[in-house]
Amino acid sequence: MPFLNLVPSSFALDLPGEERILPEPRQVRGVLWSPAPPEPPPAPALLDWSAALAEDLSLPEPDVDVIAQLAGRWTHEGLMPWASRYGGHQFGNWAGQLGDGRATVIGALRDRHGTMQDLQLKGAGLTPYSRHADGRAVLRSSLREHVCSEAMAALGVPTTRSLALVATGEPVLRDMFYDGHPAPEPGAVVTRVAPSFVRFGHFQILAAQQENQLLEALINHVLTRHYPGLGPPGPEAWTALFHEVCRRTARMVARWMHLGFVHGVMNTDNMSILGLTIDYGPFGWLSDHAPDFTPNTTDFAGRRYCYARQPVIAGWNLARLAEALLPLGLDLDALQAGLEAYQETYATEDRGGMAAKLGLAAHRGPSDDELIATMWTMLEATQADRTLFHRLLGRVDPAVSFDPAMMAGALPEQAGDDARQALAAWVMRWQARVRADSWPDVARRTRMDRSNPLLIPRNHLLLEAIRASEKGDNRPLQRLVAALRDPWTDRAGIEDLVARPPAWAADTPGCATLSCSS
Ligand code: AMP
Ligand code: MG
Repeated sequence: MPFLNLVPSSFALDLPGEERILPEPRQVRGVLWSPAPPEPPPAPALLDWSAALAEDLSLPEPDVDVIAQLAGRWTHEGLMPWASRYGGHQFGNWAGQLGDGRATVIGALRDRHGTMQDLQLKGAGLTPYSRHADGRAVLRSSLREHVCSEAMAALGVPTTRSLALVATGEPVLRDMFYDGHPAPEPGAVVTRVAPSFVRFGHFQILAAQQENQLLEALINHVLTRHYPGLGPPGPEAWTALFHEVCRRTARMVARWMHLGFVHGVMNTDNMSILGLTIDYGPFGWLSDHAPDFTPNTTDFAGRRYCYARQPVIAGWNLARLAEALLPLGLDLDALQAGLEAYQETYATEDRGGMAAKLGLAAHRGPSDDELIATMWTMLEATQADRTLFHRLLGRVDPAVSFDPAMMAGALPEQAGDDARQALAAWVMRWQARVRADSWPDVARRTRMDRSNPLLIPRNHLLLEAIRASEKGDNRPLQRLVAALRDPWTDRAGIEDLVARPPAWAADTPGCATLSCSS
């Protein structure tokens, strides 16, 4: 395989772009993308290759040429890589033009299901949208994106994917703790893969600059290429598209909440028009349940993007998208109905997802709401690990007196009698509730085991993989990615990946909490 056999991406085919090749940061008008040839690094080295995604794309193991291509070597023949123009609200404020500041789409491939997938290099150099930054990415943040996006896919969360993690061999200067001490770090490039990287912010910048013809071209591109079932271009289909984005976003956020994922930077430029989790930055995973937890140190004061606020923020972001669609002449009430569909879908997904996690035959309304609310309160108070608690709950026999020892692995070592009793009291309520279903045990347990993963890419596992890879040992990284391909099945040899985080994980910088420096 000398080079990937890429074809043009539909975004660049359908929509106008700039003609000149000039990476100088600037305000771009009247087009949706700019040519952005990647800057080839000196010594590319493959750190991990996602075999799962490669299979979907029918790609064999990559050779040196492909690795160089995925690090940013550009052949200057055929396809022109491009960076797209978008804007967005950052932390609630309109930020104007943002755009792909360090990402460039090198082309597309058809996957085994017939879907065209764009390949985007993140960290491959300057683009017109780089603003004051360098267009590069460091190994630690790239590794986190690579592992987490592949894990999310295996966990059934809609997400952009990562095909490869390639070290560039070039140092990148970063002030990791924002304390005035920039230091060189190893650089890396992630190959992101998605049918489309269009964000809410793509629509917003066009509405803000009153480029209404382009706005129409953009929505028609998204409609015809990615939502073809919604009918021919026109207000009816555009409204249906908005409703569908609302529903997909609701499903995505409900999955995050049930797994304990905190995105960390839910700005409108980080919201996908396909309802995919996108832009893995200072994200984090909850161990003990902490509603106001945010992994993002920049958000410590306001906690705008903390765990519990994610459903509200997604709704707020959808409202900004609705505003951006108003210049198309869409009916305000119809758009409002989309936002209501978001709320309804979220509520339905939340109830259904929780019923599955708890092994209930069906959610029975207010009494089950109460059981679930009590569970979250208990988990917060006892500091039980959410993931282990839910997994172990599936092992509890509703017909047999509950033995608290079997949940010991979920509780912190220092847990006292109070915590053990509170946990046992809730589990006994759950046993009574499950007995009332008179559902076969096997069916219940199977459902629970498909809803409660054993494995999630825990913050400390990511940090351990980063530390090893920074020293040239990629085995922990590769082992982690391989294990996370199947987060559901209990098996020997993964005990250390399943266990509660060690005590140091809570307060080590770069583990549970991170800056945006990436
Ligand atoms: P993010 O917080 O990662 O969503 O990024 C916000 C904006 O900053 C986007 O327009 C990014 O493309 C841009 N950006 C972030 N890091 C860099 C970088 N190192 N070089 C250029 N642009 C960047
Ligand atoms: Mg972003």
